[in-house]
Amino acid sequence: MAARQLAGSGADVLVIDRYEIGERQTSACAIPTAWLQELGLIESEKQRFDSVLIHTAHGSIRLPVPWSFSTFDYPSFCELLWDQCDAEFETAKVNGRSDSEKTGTVPIGASPISIDTDRGPIHAPLVVDSLGWKRVLAGGAHYQPPEAPLSRGLEVHPPGGNVDLEVFINRRYVPAGYGWSFPADDEVRVGVGSFDPHFPVRHTTDLLADDIEVGKSAYQGNWIPHRLRPATANGVFFAGDSAGHCFPLTAEGIRPALYFGAALGMKLRDVVDGTVTREQALDDYHSFSAGHQRAFDWLLRAQKLLPKIHPRLVKPTLAASFKAGGSGDYAFNRYLGIAPPEFAALANSALRSSLDEVAA
Ligand SMILES: Cc1cc2nc3c(=O)[nH]c(=O)nc-3n(C[C@H](O)[C@H](O)[C@H](O)COP(=O)(O)OP(=O)(O)OC[C@H]3O[C@@H](n4cnc5c(N)ncnc54)[C@H](O)[C@@H]3O)c2cc1C
Repeated sequence: MAARQLAGSGADVLVIDRYEIGERQTSACAIPTAWLQELGLIESEKQRFDSVLIHTAHGSIRLPVPWSFSTFDYPSFCELLWDQCDAEFETAKVNGRSDSEKTGTVPIGASPISIDTDRGPIHAPLVVDSLGWKRVLAGGAHYQPPEAPLSRGLEVHPPGGNVDLEVFINRRYVPAGYGWSFPADDEVRVGVGSFDPHFPVRHTTDLLADDIEVGKSAYQGNWIPHRLRPATANGVFFAGDSAGHCFPLTAEGIRPALYFGAALGMKLRDVVDGTVTREQALDDYHSFSAGHQRAFDWLLRAQKLLPKIHPRLVKPTLAASFKAGGSGDYAFNRYLGIAPPEFAALANSALRSSLDEVAA
């Protein structure tokens, strides 16, 4: 997303990943539909939902959503987004900051930044770490799960079909967290997420799959950050899970990765255009991300509260909190507003006007 915002800028943009683009899906891939529409990615949509069906240990409740969620096809989504970039791509494994920085031969964060990869060093004045929760390019101590503010998630992707986006808030599957069944046309993505990183989710992912009678194939899982982290450090920009941009409670991380990636890409374009310095961009983007702390705290409070609600009270609490047309619409709209689709529209128009300027 950050690279996309630099399309046509003349910047020499290199995107690297240890895998090919779209090769390794790490998510159930549910996102507000409007984000797919705004970004021209709607062709990757697999199924659309205007409500969430929640199963508690003591009954089920359907929460109408005042907008819609979609599940999408991960490889097509990545390809469509990549088509909007004019960057180069190489596969390489990033090992970390270069040895010269580590040994102090070069001051940390000085431009250009040096990155050590299994295919040799890379030097660049602007470096974005979107390598996930490991935050590979940060200096200092790294998170060591399970002793870290991380959730953990595991899911299976068997073939199948269903009509509802389903969530299971039931201690049968996880004491603190939830299970899900997200249909995506010809397959269904069924998994368990635990807010407590010590809880092993493999057994109960199997249990949920057995309970709802789907197969157990194509396992995929990961640690999921649930705490916002500084979005810049030692001269490097962080976006997505590397900055803890995944929302607590819901573990929705794709939309915020797109949102913060867009904000960052727009800022980097200003640096390339010479209207702000790299140092100013580091400050501005840092503040932009940190400005979302309250919203992340709101979701983290809810994440901590959910496991404390007595199982018998979960359904009545949801019924009282999510009234259709009232508190439910308010909560869902407030949630969407943390990273609203209008921001994608803003990123589009910024990109269009930059491209028009280049063409003129
Ligand atoms: C089971 C599960 C289900 C989920 N379901 C949803 C969902 O339905 N909707 C949603 O919005 N979010 C969901 N999430 C969260 C979401 O997957 C993440 O928040 C999101 O993928 C974060 O995007 P990212 O680009 O920051 O990091 P990632 O998606 O983790 O991407 C990091 C990239 O960096 C590459 N990489 C990592 N280390 C290196 C290295 N050393 N060298 C080179 N490349 C490297 C990886 O190959 C990868 O391509 C789910 C998470 C899990 C675990």
